This record gives sequence, C-alpha cells and structure tokens, in this order.
Amino acid sequence: MSDTEVVIVGGGISGLSTAYFLATQGIRSTIVEKSNRLGGLIRTDLVEGCRLEAGPDSYLATKPAATELARELGDLGRQIIGSNDKARRIFIVRHGKLVPMPEGMVMMVPARLMPALRSELFSFKTKLGFVSEALAAPRDRAEDVSLEAFILDHFEREVLDYVAEPLLTGVYGGAPANLSAQSVLPRFVKYEQTYGSLIRGVRREQRAKSRQSSTFLSFERGMQSLTDSLARAAETFQTTLCAPATRVGRTADGWLVQAGAQSFTTDHVVLACPAHACSELLARAEPNLAAKLAEIPYSSAVLVTLAYKRSSLPRIPEGFGFLVPQTERRHVAAATWVSTKFPSRVPAETAVSRAFIVGSPAEELSGVGHETLLNLVRAELRDLAGIEVQPLFHTVHIWPKSMPQYVVGHAERRREIARMLDATPGLYLVGNAYDGVGIPDCVSLAKETAKRITASLKGNSRKSGVQSRPNYTS
Ligand SMILES: Cc1cc2nc3c(=O)[nH]c(=O)nc-3n(C[C@H](O)[C@H](O)[C@H](O)COP(=O)(O)OP(=O)(O)OC[C@H]3O[C@@H](n4cnc5c(N)ncnc54)[C@H](O)[C@@H]3O)c2cc1C
Repeated sequence: MSDTEVVIVGGGISGLSTAYFLATQGIRSTIVEKSNRLGGLIRTDLVEGCRLEAGPDSYLATKPAATELARELGDLGRQIIGSNDKARRIFIVRHGKLVPMPEGMVMMVPARLMPALRSELFSFKTKLGFVSEALAAPRDRAEDVSLEAFILDHFEREVLDYVAEPLLTGVYGGAPANLSAQSVLPRFVKYEQTYGSLIRGVRREQRAKSRQSSTFLSFERGMQSLTDSLARAAETFQTTLCAPATRVGRTADGWLVQAGAQSFTTDHVVLACPAHACSELLARAEPNLAAKLAEIPYSSAVLVTLAYKRSSLPRIPEGFGFLVPQTERRHVAAATWVSTKFPSRVPAETAVSRAFIVGSPAEELSGVGHETLLNLVRAELRDLAGIEVQPLFHTVHIWPKSMPQYVVGHAERRREIARMLDATPGLYLVGNAYDGVGIPDCVSLAKETAKRITASLKGNSRKSGVQSRPNYTS
C-alpha cells in the first residue's frame, strides 16, 4: 500500500501548485501525468543562448497569486523579472501597415483621451464615440452577453475590430461574438454598472493603482523555473507517475484512479487536466458532470519562434510586437519580440520573434509539417513587418485544444459544475477552464482547492492506497 493521500491527474502548473500547497501541510500526493515531463504548457528551452518559451512567456503582474507563490518558494522570488515596459508599444495591422496602438489604452478602453483622439488607428466617428462614451449612464444587465455586443454598446465597431478582437484572440483564441462579457471582462461589466462609462471606470482604476513597474512578470531563467521549483519544493511529499490516467471511478467509500497498469484508491482526487480530458475520465462514474465539462469549448495554438541576427534585420524591431485583426488576418494573429519584451533572455546580437496562430487556422494547420508552418509565418512576417531575411534558427510548438473558451453563459455553467462537485465529495477540478485562463488564476484555484482538501483531511481517517486491480462500483 502506498501512503498517497491525494491523487492529482495532470502535472501542469495547476497540478503542481496543488501538490505543493498540500505538501506545505504535510499531505502526500501522487501526480499522474501522461507525458514524460512536468510543467504542462509551461516549458522553457535553452537554444543557442536564447531562453525560449514553448508556451506562456510571462504572467500578469496585477494578479498576485503567482508572485506570492514564487516568493514562498524562496530563491525563485529573487529571480522574478519584469517586462521591459519602457519599450512597451504595440502595433496593430491596419490596411497592411503597422500602426501604433495609442498610449494609455486599457484593453479597448482609452484611459487617456488625447492619444486616442490623435491616433491614426481610429476614424473621426470612432473618436467622437469615445467622447460620448465618457458620458454614458450606469446600466444593469440582466443577462450575460457576448463581448461583441458589450463592446458595441460602448464603442464604434472599429474599436471591436482593430483593438478588442486581436487582443482577445491572442489570449483566448476565440471570437468576441462567442466569448462571454461577464467571464472574460468582469471588471468592465462592473464599471458599466457603477459608472456607466468604461472610460470613466478605467480612469478611476488608473488613479487608484499603485505605480507598477512592469505589466508582465516572468523569471530570469524562464517560466519553467516556476514549475521546476514547485516540483522540487513538493518532492518529499509528492510522487509522480508518468502514465495517462484512463478512468476515474467511484469505490464504495471513495475514488479509484486507473493509470497505466496501476490503480489508486483515495478519498481525494484532483483533476488538473483540461476539461475535455476530465470529461473523458469521468464519463462512466459521473456522466452528468462529464457532459457539462464537455460543453466547455477549446481552441488550439501554434507558436513559431524565429531567431534572427539583429544586424541582418532591415530595422531594429520596435515595441513588444504587433497584433493582426481578423479583418486583416491570413494566419498569424500576433507576433511579439522576445528580445524587446524580455531582453535578458536573448544575446544582444540576436532578435527573437514569437508568431502565434490561434483558433480555427491553428486547428487547420496543426497537421502540416513544421517546414510548411515556418514558410507560411515567414511569408506573413515579410508582408506585415518587412522581414525577409532567413532566420538563424526556429522552433515550432503545437498545442491542440489548449485554450478554454469562456463563451456566453460560462459563469452559469461554472456554477452548475460547482453544484455537481458539491454532490461528489472528494472530487476536485483545478485548471484554466474555470475561474480564469492565466497562470495566477490557476495558482489561486489550486491554493483554494488544497485548503479545502486539508480541511477535509483534518480529523478524517485515511482510506488511501494503491492496488493492482481496479474494483469500481461505478
Ligand atoms: C500558447 C499559449 C500561450 C500562453 N501564454 C500565457 C501567458 O503568457 N501568460 C499566462 O498567464 N497564461 C498563458 N497561457 C495560459 C497558461 O499557459 C495556462 O492557463 C496554464 O499553463 C494551464 O496550466 P494547467 O496546469 O491548468 O494545464 P496544462 O498546463 O495543460 O497541464 C495539464 C496537464 O495534464 C496532463 N494530462 C492531460 N490528460 C491527462 C491524462 N488523462 N492523464 C494524465 N495527465 C493528463 C497534460 O499532459 C498536462 O501536462 C498560454 C497558453 C497557451 C496555449
């Protein structure tokens, strides 16, 4: 019999943080991870002196959970680096040209009117719309609406098409016509309710905000430092099994997890894998919950990273990168300059760009070879940013069904899932499909979940172990 108390399926940031927070309470866990490495979407590779991220490159500084966790991990707290915000400029492709996003934009809302009114990105009508939006009266919405409907209630379509859509596509890989205003931009929905005008809301927010040095935070040696440090910190209390979990079932008084040739019995199972994977695992034991989880749509992402000899580029790359609105898009939705955003990651003589393909183009292209993807991205970087030179090297990462879509009604679906979980003691869901898609959101949910498990384990007798043959009741 193993002395595992908790079984965690999935070894990304969500599973690892759960294991870590449990370990701080002396609670043992086993992580069942289908791949042969921990970290999930978080992965940093050192290639030719460049620290390249295969997935996320940073996290939002405004959400403290990841920073607090890094500081708790000791040395990692000292390795936090900020994005190089003095060069923080974003360009938008408009009629095939790169046009700077006006200064002071908070998502699609101009916190400073003058730069927006002077910008060549917006027409006269849109600028007039900004002025009248600042006078909007508070309103309550009875129901969740799409981001598209929400934004069009405040601004001209140009703001949706040229700012909101490409920004949101970069994070969610989904269309504003489907995404939920309440779940994706809850603070803007609140501003509408309190102030009426989003412009007045973000101005208040800016005044209240303490002076923050960087918008994005990361780690000197890349995002993988976070998952590596978590795995090390939890080591004494955590075991990893590299095998896919194939089934989660109920026993007479607990749970049974089948993984490879092993099955674990336990009182507490944490599913830290994507909602579609959770749905498959629970199909027999919890069909209603499984069906609800399957309703959460996912989008895919393809990331092509290209490294150039800086001196071979026609001009020094300006800003953090550019976004390509749907109306102008062929495949690439966004490209960022790693060498500008996090200069310490790349040798001075090298410039590195990360080009993203998301949503349906990513799904269509995920089967084509790396060479085809490279050629396609190179052609678009040539047309959009004038980069014709051959890269020194490149990497390609394909993440199928990796970005959960918070579509209209997500909050209600989330509440239903929570109600179903209340009726299934000992089963927990963590990950980016529920309360936020960013890394800090995953850490927060993991922490809250570990707290609940700790509270439940206190005073409970243990019924955990490992057995070679499953004995399901459902
Ligand atoms: C391209 C890209 C860029 C991103 N950029 C950012 C960013 O800059 N900042 C930010 O905050 N967020 C970003 N995100 C989102 C962020 O990466 C994720 O929200 C977060 O990493 C999710 O972590 P997780 O542990 O919940 O899931 P994952 O990292 O997906 O981990 C789930 C794990 O479960 C395992 N698994 C699945 N099925 C099974 C099974 N049956 N048995 C065992 N194991 C299983 C998988 O192998 C995986 O290791 C990005 C996402 C993508 C796709």
